[in-house]
Amino acid sequence: MKMASLGEFGFIDLVRARAHGPRGLLSKGIGDDAAVIDCPPAGKQLLWTVDMLVEGIHFDLSYTPARLLGRKSLSVNLSDIAAMGGEPVACLVSVGFTKQTDVDFAKDLMGGFLEVAGAHSCPLAGGDTVSAPQIVIDVTVLGVAPAGEAYLRSTARPGELIMVTGPLGDSAAGLEALKRGLGREDSWKTLVSAHLDPVPRLREAAAARSAGGVRSMMDISDGLANEVNHIARESSAGAVIWADRIPLSSASMELCAEAGLSALDLALYGGEDYELVFTAEARDAQRIAEAIRDATGTMVAVVGEVVDAGKGVKISAGGRESDLLPLAYDHFRARGE
Ligand SMILES: [Mg+2]
Repeated sequence: MKMASLGEFGFIDLVRARAHGPRGLLSKGIGDDAAVIDCPPAGKQLLWTVDMLVEGIHFDLSYTPARLLGRKSLSVNLSDIAAMGGEPVACLVSVGFTKQTDVDFAKDLMGGFLEVAGAHSCPLAGGDTVSAPQIVIDVTVLGVAPAGEAYLRSTARPGELIMVTGPLGDSAAGLEALKRGLGREDSWKTLVSAHLDPVPRLREAAAARSAGGVRSMMDISDGLANEVNHIARESSAGAVIWADRIPLSSASMELCAEAGLSALDLALYGGEDYELVFTAEARDAQRIAEAIRDATGTMVAVVGEVVDAGKGVKISAGGRESDLLPLAYDHFRARGE
């Protein structure tokens, strides 16, 4: 059956039957004109984020299964809540389907979305469906963080170490494998999964908050080079990244060796890793790294330091420093779309 025959209300009934009931601050979900959400208790602030995925720009249906697309559309929003050091409250989703979209595709997409919603206690509070010339998924997530303590990009200070969860570059390497028709090969399974089904680092951010000492944080959606430049600019600081400390996976290095690519470039410019980059004073860094590793098993690496603004943003490799520019890796996709 095509979406044109199921219709908007048929689709809403289908999603509603599978959505989780209200929980946490969400007191009334799907079924009324608007969702009802309790005000956060004293000492908490709301976080609010939105991210839209458009067919042909952010995903390609020739290698993107509907279920994973649904998962990713929510995961990338949850990654922003993680980056603020918060936890999710509820989400909304607007979906545009073409008249020719199969109902099974729509069901799988929402099935994947609801899996992630369930796994991260982020109930679907409502949404909208429209007919569109191509598939579009627009998601917003509400979250909460301790008042005055959301992690920002603007609070890094010279002398702090720059740390990342990792490895970096796997998502871009996975995209490369998919584009080359190698997506089904076992050797690249972790890379393809990093690209199609990224895991929002909510648990890692929560472990970092419990450890204490995080000074600034953001998620790595556009490559480490871009994000470090954002932190430096917003904090009126400079940064030095140590190339040999950037965590690369053996799978990414193998694929890059075969494909004639640089795994380091994918980590710096590739994007869509949805890992965390954060800063902390040297005396706190080890403790935070251990807390994240102990709680989640995710690796954490120190990859550089915050320096004075006058120094700019540099990458140090083989004893030489050069400018680290916020470039897009054009081979993959244009940035800012
Ligand atoms: Mg972000």
